[in-house]
Amino acid sequence: SNQELAGLYQETIIDHYKRPRHKSKAGHCSFCQEGKNPLCGDSLIVYCELVEKQDQKVMKTFFEGSGCSISQASASIMCDLTQNTTIEEARKLIERAELTYTGRIQIDPDNMDSDLDALYGVSQFPVRIKCAALPWKTLEFLLSNHFDEQGNLRDKPCDKMQACSRQTKDPRKLKIVNTEESAEALREESPKSSAQNNPS
Ligand code: ZN
Repeated sequence: SNQELAGLYQETIIDHYKRPRHKSKAGHCSFCQEGKNPLCGDSLIVYCELVEKQDQKVMKTFFEGSGCSISQASASIMCDLTQNTTIEEARKLIERAELTYTGRIQIDPDNMDSDLDALYGVSQFPVRIKCAALPWKTLEFLLSNHFDEQGNLRDKPCDKMQACSRQTKDPRKLKIVNTEESAEALREESPKSSAQNNPS
C-alpha cells in the first residue's frame, strides 16, 4: 500500500533525524550560511570548508540547527552526500535532491540508490517540501554567493573566509534564505495553481 511505501522512505528519514551525520561546527569553517523556514520553525546553519584532495578542491560540509524531523534529516543526508565532493558535484546533487523531494522524478522504495532517495517520500506531503528543501537551498545559496559557474571562488573579498565558527556567531554576517522562493517556483510550475492565480 501507499502507506507501506511511505514507511520505507520514513525509516531512512527517522534514522538521520535520530543520528544526524555531520551535525557540528566545522573545525575550519570557510563559509557559512543560515537558512530559516519560518512556517515550520526550522532553522539551520550550513558550514562548508574546502580541502585539497588529489589536485582538486573538495568540500567538507557540516550543519547546526533545530527543526522538524524532515528538515534535520534532510540536512544530515545532504552533508553525508556532499562530503568530499567538488563544487560541481555538489551542485548536481542539489539539482537531484530538488527533483527528488518535489517528486519530479519517481523513486522506487525497493530500489533506493542512496539516502537521498528517501526524500522522495516528502513529495507526497506538499506542505513539508519546504522542510526538505531548506538545507539544500541554504547550501545552494552559499555556493552561489561564493563560487562562480565553473566552481571558482568569486573574486571578491569575503569576511567569512576566516574561521568564523570559532568566534561567537555574528548574525549580521548571516543572510537568511527565503525559502518562499522555492515554494513560489513550485507553484508556478503547477498548471492548477497558475490557473488559480490568473482567473480569466
Ligand atoms: Zn519543517
